[in-house]
Amino acid sequence: MHSELVVIGGGPGGYAAAFRAADAGMQVAMIDQRAQLGGECLLQGCIPSKALLHVARVIAEAEESADWGVEFASPVIDLEKMRQRKEKVISTLSAGLKQLAKRRGVKVIAARAKFADSNTVELKATGDESLDEDRLTFDHAIIATGSRATVPPMFQLESPRVMDSSGALALAEVPSRLLVVGGGYIGLEMGTVYARLGSHVTVVEMTGGLLPGADRDLVKPLQKRLQALFAEIMLETKVTSLALDGDEVEAVLEDVEGENAQRFDAVLVAVGRRPNSADLGLEKTDAQIDERGFVIVDEHQSTADPRILAVGDVAGEPMLAHKATHEGKVAVAMIRGETIAQSPASVPAVVFTDPEIAWTGLTADEAKRQGRDVRVAQYPWAASGRAQAIGRTEGLTKLVLDPDTDQVLGIGLVGVGAGELIAEGVLAIERSATASEIAHTIHPHPTMSETLAGAAEIYLGVATEVYRPRRERKK
Ligand code: FAD
Ligand code: NAD
Repeated sequence: MHSELVVIGGGPGGYAAAFRAADAGMQVAMIDQRAQLGGECLLQGCIPSKALLHVARVIAEAEESADWGVEFASPVIDLEKMRQRKEKVISTLSAGLKQLAKRRGVKVIAARAKFADSNTVELKATGDESLDEDRLTFDHAIIATGSRATVPPMFQLESPRVMDSSGALALAEVPSRLLVVGGGYIGLEMGTVYARLGSHVTVVEMTGGLLPGADRDLVKPLQKRLQALFAEIMLETKVTSLALDGDEVEAVLEDVEGENAQRFDAVLVAVGRRPNSADLGLEKTDAQIDERGFVIVDEHQSTADPRILAVGDVAGEPMLAHKATHEGKVAVAMIRGETIAQSPASVPAVVFTDPEIAWTGLTADEAKRQGRDVRVAQYPWAASGRAQAIGRTEGLTKLVLDPDTDQVLGIGLVGVGAGELIAEGVLAIERSATASEIAHTIHPHPTMSETLAGAAEIYLGVATEVYRPRRERKK
């Protein structure tokens, strides 16, 4: 069997590439070892976690509304119903992908793929159906095999009490005491879900702060809320060992003062992810991997093998679904001899906690590390009518600007709905917008989007709702 394009992996990188290529008239086969399409993001990542975070948000709002004069009784949690809803969301979207593949004539193969050489993959069936053929030759291949949770050997206890993100999303039960190892994206998102469902959550983070990649002033309002929600947040602390003891897990925690043992009912290990590049037969091709296992690609997603490209988590950080999708489209453009502007500077990041944190472009901390002269303008959400109306004034909108050109280099947000608001920031950076252009764009009132224009006005010294005397600008 021969295919013009073979895509290995049916996640957001893989299906975006397969669909784009099919739309351009290419003959495409998409191989995924799972029974359903959607990859980690849809089946065990982005979507199920957001379905559960939405429930967590509803519980929180019901509780908070007591302060606004509306009291609800304590929630009664039906875990089975929650699981069913989450699965329904997944199956609806996954079935949609299957339909879209069918209508586009993309051949979907449920198999594990491995390169036999630079134009052949070997297939091993993973579903119930046997395969027509166990080899597939191709003109081009796109590797979109994603990533998997890193679970250090000392945490591999083969017990349902020690979970990775998939285990936590399965929602088998709500443990009374949950230890979360890692204060990154997954630790804080899933920690929020379990805390709202009733677990006493302890987060242990190895570095000096939560979400090490984000600016500290954005993390601060989140950390304050999480300190109230979680039983404990332990920074500069490592979990050095885990041991099962009956129905409990004993964890040894190490900080500057030494070691101490604590007991939990379950543990979520969320200390990062690593690329799925092993056991792919890459050694039979000219594609190379780096020391962390990422497939090495250039800005067009090409590997060192002229027939093979790679996209998404397997092709490098940040490991985010929208980055995978964009790269899938860039790869197909490359194969077709076109080029799409690849602008990694504006890949947005969103942490879907409560409040959400979102940023794109240059962060203020990164500018400092680079010794780059930037100016930062901050709009406190306490000045926003909308933030006051919904009782969530802890937010902050900030712009990182080039003082010579007034160009916006980076945008950071913390607050309710920050993940939606950041899209305007991405466009601003993509279009090299200046502070005046954002300030002169009419934003609807009353919305939190006004805080973006407000931050630009603060930079220009002309803010309406915030009094900040004009600072001398360079030009
Ligand atoms: P994947 O989605 O991982 O898909 C790869 C597919 O390839 C998988 O189905 C895998 O089974 C298959 N595969 C692997 N090897 C083979 C093989 N040899 N043969 C056949 N098939 C193979 N990102 C966001 O942007 N926003 C979020 O809110 C978000 N939330 C997340 C929450 C969690 C809990 C997790 C774990 C991740 C989250 N992510 C989020 C990250 C996101 O899931 C990944 O960035 C995204 O899935 C990467 O897409 P991909 O196409 O590269 O790979
Ligand atoms: P992460 O890199 O976001 O966070 C891991 C955290 O664990 C870091 O803060 C790190 O310092 C800490 N850590 C590492 N080893 C430790 C140890 N031994 N003890 C204590 N702390 C330790 O990784 P993650 O939360 O596992 O998520 C993996 C990736 O998945 C993310 O980086 C992101 O790319 C993606 N993701 C994205 C979203 C989103 O976009 N909203 C949500 C979930 C996951």
